Amino acid sequence: MDITADTTPDELVATHRALRTAWQARRPDLDQRRADLKRLRDAFRAQVPAMDAAIRADFGHRSEHENLISEAMVVIAEIDHALAHLRRWARPRRAAVGWRFWPARAQVRPVPVGVVGILSPWNYPVNLALMPLVSAIAAGNHVYLKPSEHTPRTSAWLRELLAEVFPADRVAVALGGPGVGATFAGLPFDHLLFTGSTAVGRKVMAAAAPNLTPVTLELGGKAPAVICPDFPVDKAAARIATGKWINAGQTCIGVDYVLVDAARRDAFVDAVVAELRARYGDIAGSLDYTRIINEAQHARLQGYLDDARARGLQVIAPFGASPAGAADEVGRLLPPTLVIEPGPDAEVMRHEIFGPILPVLSYTSLDDAIGIIQRLPRPLALYPFTRDEADLARILDGILPGGVTVNDTLVHFGVHGLPFGGIGPSGMGQIHGRHGFDTFSKQLPVLRQAHWAGSDLIKPPYTGKIDRMIRWLAK
Ligand code: NAD
Repeated sequence: MDITADTTPDELVATHRALRTAWQARRPDLDQRRADLKRLRDAFRAQVPAMDAAIRADFGHRSEHENLISEAMVVIAEIDHALAHLRRWARPRRAAVGWRFWPARAQVRPVPVGVVGILSPWNYPVNLALMPLVSAIAAGNHVYLKPSEHTPRTSAWLRELLAEVFPADRVAVALGGPGVGATFAGLPFDHLLFTGSTAVGRKVMAAAAPNLTPVTLELGGKAPAVICPDFPVDKAAARIATGKWINAGQTCIGVDYVLVDAARRDAFVDAVVAELRARYGDIAGSLDYTRIINEAQHARLQGYLDDARARGLQVIAPFGASPAGAADEVGRLLPPTLVIEPGPDAEVMRHEIFGPILPVLSYTSLDDAIGIIQRLPRPLALYPFTRDEADLARILDGILPGGVTVNDTLVHFGVHGLPFGGIGPSGMGQIHGRHGFDTFSKQLPVLRQAHWAGSDLIKPPYTGKIDRMIRWLAK
């Protein structure tokens, strides 16, 4: 049997049914969930070198340190956090009944929903598969995962890891591309989480609709960084360089474009170029710079640069252009490139870039900068750089993104206490920590009626005292 072969429609249906039947027969209790998470953590830790090798091979080259930070560290931290807080998250919470229903008692019980489907993308292929899986398992569900076809070695690694940790009727992995994804999204899940593009997110939601499967959509968008006049450009440049060029820009919450006050635009560009040279030196020989995932993505990004040059825009490539022609991992090196002052019709401003190209736009007033962002779809992330509370308030009042890091980039993703998710075209729903646990739980309201209850009196015939009492209650 070829373990990398596409999962067939019949297998998808049968596996989903097996997961559901097993869950119905025995919902994982708290001890089971904790034991599962501990086993997952141990197995994961032992398999980090194999994970690193798989991701590196899938990307052609990917920085080992980026793998350690953005895949291993975040997943292990998410498991540790769930283990530390699970009992409290799962505890029934008392709810007030109000005097009209007294002496009844009420509580909200977070209970698992059943089988959770997870469709994950290629850009952080382990993180974006396992972080939601950890939450879904913590909440007591069974999970069916379909990782991306664009990272086949990592997807096979995930399948082996999860098969080692979980019985096949508690967690299963399907393999395949858009066709398998479309059938998967149409399975009658109790909750479906999709991470990927806005365009595919629409299809996933439509496929889930006939089953009335609730969906959480983690989508993309153009995340802006806005540098206000009071913030030092050098510091902004350094932090934006991390938010832009980690994973060669293939990051959903990565900085898509920068708005900087006009007087300091050139100083900002110079600071970014200096920062890039200090970070990557000889870029082709740098082990710290990641490749573009495949030829199609490389061609898309190259097309944006061709468009910028054809428009006569200033294109700054501190390390030169991409090595020409080759479609292998050497050719898939796309060096950091800046595009200065693209208009709204330039390709780099019409699409989510999702690569190592940084448009730099200047503004003359903060209202102009806010207006530019407002004319684009609501982004997944927003990065204001300012210590001026009034300017920050204007930005936060004027723009509604999925999440915000002020004076830095990306960091809000890793903070357990913050819900992570988009809005409108950048997604719906939220995950991470307690928020992920709640997303994959039903908040079951349970009311216990007392032996003597006032509501026993409320029944026809509505005359005399009963009539007066109801009129009084309704005041
Ligand atoms: P994609 O939308 O092309 O693919 C994602 C997954 O969907 C793949 O596994 C694919 O097999 C599957 N798929 C394709 N067609 C499908 C269909 N009709 N039905 C069901 N599934 C289908 O995205 P991608 O290229 O893998 O990832 C890049 C995008 O993901 C970017 O837009 C990025 O911003 C976004 N993203 C968002 C987050 C987030 O947390 N919000 C994280 C990472 C990436």
